[in-house]
Amino acid sequence: MSEAMNVAEIFGTRVFNDSVMKERLPKKIYADLKNTIEEGAELKPATAEVVANAMKDWAVEHGATHYTHWFQPLNGITAEKHDSFICPPKNGKVIMEFSGKELIKGEPDASSFPSGGLRATFEARGYTAWDCTSPAFLKEDASGVVLCIPTAFCSYTGVALDKKTPLLRSMEAINREGLRLIRLLGNTTSKRITPSVGAEQEYFIIDREKFLKRKDLVYTGRTLFGTMPAKGQELEDHYFGSIRERIGAYMKDVDEELWKLGVPAKTRHNEVAPAQHEIAPIYGTVNVATDQNQMVMETLKKVASRHGLACLLHEKPFNGVNGSGKHDNWSITTDDGINLLDPGKAPHENIQFLLVLTCILKAVDEHADLLRLSAASTGNDHRLGKQEAPPAIISVFLGEQLQDVLTQLIETGFATHSLAGEALKTGVNYLPAFEKDATDRNRTSPFAFTGNKFEFRMVGSNDSIACANTILNSIVAESFAEASDYIEKAEDKDLAVHDLIKRYAAEHQRVVFNGNGYSAEWVEEATRRGLPNLPTMVDAIPSMVSDKAVAMFEKLGVFTKEELEARAEIRYESYVKQLNIEARAMLNIANKQIIPAAISYTTKLAESLTAVQSACPEADVSVQKKLLMESSSLLADIKAADIALEDVLAGASGIEDIVAEAHYFKDTILPAMDALRAPVDTLEMTMDKKMWPYPSYGDMLFEV
Ligand code: ADP
Ligand code: MG
Repeated sequence: MSEAMNVAEIFGTRVFNDSVMKERLPKKIYADLKNTIEEGAELKPATAEVVANAMKDWAVEHGATHYTHWFQPLNGITAEKHDSFICPPKNGKVIMEFSGKELIKGEPDASSFPSGGLRATFEARGYTAWDCTSPAFLKEDASGVVLCIPTAFCSYTGVALDKKTPLLRSMEAINREGLRLIRLLGNTTSKRITPSVGAEQEYFIIDREKFLKRKDLVYTGRTLFGTMPAKGQELEDHYFGSIRERIGAYMKDVDEELWKLGVPAKTRHNEVAPAQHEIAPIYGTVNVATDQNQMVMETLKKVASRHGLACLLHEKPFNGVNGSGKHDNWSITTDDGINLLDPGKAPHENIQFLLVLTCILKAVDEHADLLRLSAASTGNDHRLGKQEAPPAIISVFLGEQLQDVLTQLIETGFATHSLAGEALKTGVNYLPAFEKDATDRNRTSPFAFTGNKFEFRMVGSNDSIACANTILNSIVAESFAEASDYIEKAEDKDLAVHDLIKRYAAEHQRVVFNGNGYSAEWVEEATRRGLPNLPTMVDAIPSMVSDKAVAMFEKLGVFTKEELEARAEIRYESYVKQLNIEARAMLNIANKQIIPAAISYTTKLAESLTAVQSACPEADVSVQKKLLMESSSLLADIKAADIALEDVLAGASGIEDIVAEAHYFKDTILPAMDALRAPVDTLEMTMDKKMWPYPSYGDMLFEV
């Protein structure tokens, strides 16, 4: 047995968390900072000064030499620029220093991050501002130990240039509007409402050497060529299967790293596809959960390379097997522990829950397009609606119990009872008897109610969860605000609440779907119901700048119109850039690896043909002949498709307008890429494996 790991002892050792602050900060300073963290009070410069010094001492004691403002620009990853703690040398000696000013404010050059046109109107100057609600932590790698300070990133004029600023603004909005609503319902004690999130993360693990031989994976994160071998996921033997030794050792290290960073990694298991796995932490406050999900992704990759493995976070690394996503489990709770999404034992009597629930139905129905957009990425386009992930249509799963309550309300105006869970009947006496849940699970809904939270299952595995949660918080905040407006004006408040629940349930029933979301019938049914179906990222982007969206975000103070327009432009740009890289990588691989290999193979067949024939004119050479005919013909197809792709790609450079260019990539380049892939994949299935230039799907998925 290897040495036991003491989880309690290592957990959070690299985090400047509450207990470290309590221990190291003077009482008054600690109280001030807590007031800022918990109540949103303004941070005093004098407090920041003392905190900075304590933070630096703690970091240096743990071996840190540098600090960085850690932020999340709009390219989807995290950014950091390291500064050492040393001050200008005096008498040839340095001391380690870190001021309050350095803690609260940084000034990275904003001009090299995506800004979607905001740069033209604003200066390049950008600021990072300390988010004291997400704890600072120590990152350790080959460059040493670095103190990472989670920050928000804004331009000189306060325009958000990152994913965190709008998320924090959306938290403010849902807090404000949520409190207003629960006050109207008689709650006078809760002081704050916070969204909580648990993000389940899927990923693939393959051997690093094989990964490096696949230029498509290296450059684009997904395989641009390749097909499934004889065995795929059809036996359903991987999901929850026992974990292989090498993967087990990797997972152990990942958990250890994450625990040290204070990330409460909780579950780990094999997923549906071969070589696919999942990790999930215990849920936490949404901005912290968002930061931690970034740490999870970074750690998964870093630890993989240490183990001679490669972690693939792309939404669809392999055609023909399930892709990866992220389940965003979302709930809203008060500071005194009330989960507004907890129906309790008798949901039909829980007026607050029913109002919150129907407000959410309304929000999701009215802003289905935005929620769809929140999970849009080039990678996710290959995954959504492919019988493995929710379709690109937003619907809500409520389950039998809640559906029944809402139906009673809609039909009679009153809900008199709730379906209860019955005893579980296993037919075996000695198995423990317990009550099963009132509702079965549903795996195919994009937005499913799961007991006391909603699970948004559309988000891509490679994406930050910031955007999804910013939009979720905002649309629900708007819905709360409208409900409050209505109740405030009413003479009989109880009646108004009752009216609203009934009205929202009835008017937004169309977004509820409790059946199989993967079926073709649902797509037809959704069209009949008038629900938006936005199959690709390019189709979804306009919803971000619709009048409806702009009005909502501006009213709530989450985004300005200008910020939304910039973000839409960045999305179009990133779509074009990513597809351009993919198309160029395909051409490169086809010309430099596949075509030469095919030529060698056909030559070998031809040589065999003549050699066998001349040695023995009566011998049957029909196999060589057939293979030679087939592979030569595929080779010609490949070259023709290669030239066609090159041509259409050249056509893209003449397009000025970014929206038109994105559509051109979707409608013209993508089909040309598919046309090149098809003959290559057919050739791979027939050609001598030893002569194929890079590892196959089978090599990567089954030989880890
Ligand atoms: P699944 O069956 O989908 O794997 P789990 O019960 O394991 O679901 O939970 C998945 C994630 O949801 C975990 O990260 C968990 O911490 C989180 N979660 C559980 N309860 C809540 C809640 N009330 N709010 C937000 N997230 C939650
Ligand atoms: Mg889940």
